Amino acid sequence: MHPAKNQRRAAAVNASERDLASDEPLIELRGVGRFYPSAGGLQALSDVTLTIRQGELACVTGPSGSGKSTLMNILGCLDRATSGRYLFRGRPVAGLDADALARLRRDEFGFVFQAYNLIGSATAQENVEMPAAYAGRAPAERRARARSLLRSLGLGHRLRHRPAALSGGEQQRVAIARALMNGARVLLADEPTGALDAAAATEVLSVLRGLAERGHAIVIITHDAEVAAWASRRIELRDGRVAADRAVAPTAQPAAARRAVDPEPALGDSPALRGAPPWRDQVAAWAAPALAGARLLGANLLRTRRLRTSLTMLSVTVGVWAVVALLSLVRGAYLEGVEMAASTGADTITVLSLQPQENEPETAVRLTAADAHALRGLPNVRAALPEIMRQVVVRRRDIALDTWLRATGPSAAGGRRWPMAEGGFLAEADGDRLASVAVLGAYARDRLLPKPLPAVGEFVTIDDVPFLVKGVLSRRGKPGSRIVMEDDALVFVPFETAAALFFGPRAGSVEVVVEDPRLIAETAQAVRDALARRHGGVGFRLRNPLGLRAGFSAVEKMFATLVGAVGAVSLVVGGVGVASVMLLAVAERRREIGIRMAIGAARGDIARQFLLEAAAIAGAGGALGMALAFATAPALAAA
Ligand code: ADP
Ligand code: MG
Repeated sequence: MHPAKNQRRAAAVNASERDLASDEPLIELRGVGRFYPSAGGLQALSDVTLTIRQGELACVTGPSGSGKSTLMNILGCLDRATSGRYLFRGRPVAGLDADALARLRRDEFGFVFQAYNLIGSATAQENVEMPAAYAGRAPAERRARARSLLRSLGLGHRLRHRPAALSGGEQQRVAIARALMNGARVLLADEPTGALDAAAATEVLSVLRGLAERGHAIVIITHDAEVAAWASRRIELRDGRVAADRAVAPTAQPAAARRAVDPEPALGDSPALRGAPPWRDQVAAWAAPALAGARLLGANLLRTRRLRTSLTMLSVTVGVWAVVALLSLVRGAYLEGVEMAASTGADTITVLSLQPQENEPETAVRLTAADAHALRGLPNVRAALPEIMRQVVVRRRDIALDTWLRATGPSAAGGRRWPMAEGGFLAEADGDRLASVAVLGAYARDRLLPKPLPAVGEFVTIDDVPFLVKGVLSRRGKPGSRIVMEDDALVFVPFETAAALFFGPRAGSVEVVVEDPRLIAETAQAVRDALARRHGGVGFRLRNPLGLRAGFSAVEKMFATLVGAVGAVSLVVGGVGVASVMLLAVAERRREIGIRMAIGAARGDIARQFLLEAAAIAGAGGALGMALAFATAPALAAA
């Protein structure tokens, strides 16, 4: 292998051994041109051939529009030549893709602009750290290096100041420290003193001169003869061509230069140059800029865009809260509806036998316990209970009460939501073992068992058959009311017991309780069909307090759809809000993006940063909305 190649490779592998004394050209431009096709086309640079070596302090001069900035952008790989060749340390850059070019910029070039272009929301130290974050260096390492760079440029006492709190000369020195952060071999400065007074300009120029003496290559664009006096080489552009390129003896005082720059702190191995890193380093390299971005992000968003960020977050918060609140309201309304349906009996279908007509007795259907059993298998049926009512005489000792006996089951409509005053209601097992137990309505109890005797455990006789009192229902009629509520006078016994003792399996009616009252119309149809199949006739009638119409269901469905639509719209509005704010931010922060690109951010780094910002805003807003929703849940439930 060629020895020079070996040497280059070794230098590339170990960035800490930078052969800054070597005479190898850093940059060679050969016949470079730049053509701008826009607006009829303009050849901004033509046939530029020049070589930049280490330790050079070159200045580029020329009238405005002569192509100085264009040349600078091409030298710094921010732009590509449209003709000619560009070799960086012997390698053509034309073959590098955008990411490789970004890496080359990051590791080899530093940029200093007339307008400093520091990130205003970050401190001096954070600004200097930024290129190292994009290079994936560890936070501790880059903090230490940023601090010592700033100290070496006389800014040790300004680490935590933000750009606005620094003088122009100080800001430009921060920009120089930032340019040096990744150990740039080449420093490109476009009118670096254009905005500075004479003293600050001298300060900055002596820093640049000192860096050239330490082996960096410095290219300064200027139209100022004072600045040119510091250079050891002068390149003159005219109409995009090199009009003159000659070595000159610097006329400015070189002693000032040495005083201005302390030895530059050493730089460790660049992770990018170490070859294939282990996966952990790769992850760190991916995350580091994002995390550094995140740290600066908090600063950025909160320091400078406080109002807009909070408003965006608020819109997401309100959107999420509204959706959650609406959904819980709908849920509450639904549960309320179910509850109401149950308490009014709207969830119950009563199947009644028609009384046989004299002229056509075959039209009557005799409902039985078996029918009830068959109906239990239908969908949406929670319970199907055969019932029969009959007038009886209930006695205890010498008291007799003429009333209605209701032979029923454990979850009969009457017992389900009718609280007990004493004991318990009829149980499944009571019917199964044909138990002679009875539950009394409040009026029946008062008549048969005057207080304060406990009623439970006492015996009553129903049509002369003894029954054990198992429980007493609470009063339904208004207390003290003279009108005895019909229900309060009832006596309940298990259907099976009554069937065995009094009636046989004939049922007067079957109470069908449904799971979901919204489907009551469908369930009623299924009940009708099942009974028609069993009996081959139509001698029965179905009854429901709400008339078995689909009204409840339809209204509820419409309400839910409406709320869902409103929720979806508010979420979309929130999302569009975040997106538009981020787009605005991208447009508004074009300058910042440009700076970040110049200091070594690849396209992906910038995209990740904005994505992270959007995610942070949306995430924080969403979390806040959920928290709010949980906090207000009890109030909403009450409403
Ligand atoms: P200088 O920095 O010496 O003032 P520039 O390099 O900025 O000159 O510009 C050189 C010429 O190229 C000018 O005529 C300028 O108008 C033109 N130019 C610069 N940038 C662009 C661009 N992006 N598109 C079209 N023309 C451009
Ligand atoms: Mg310019």
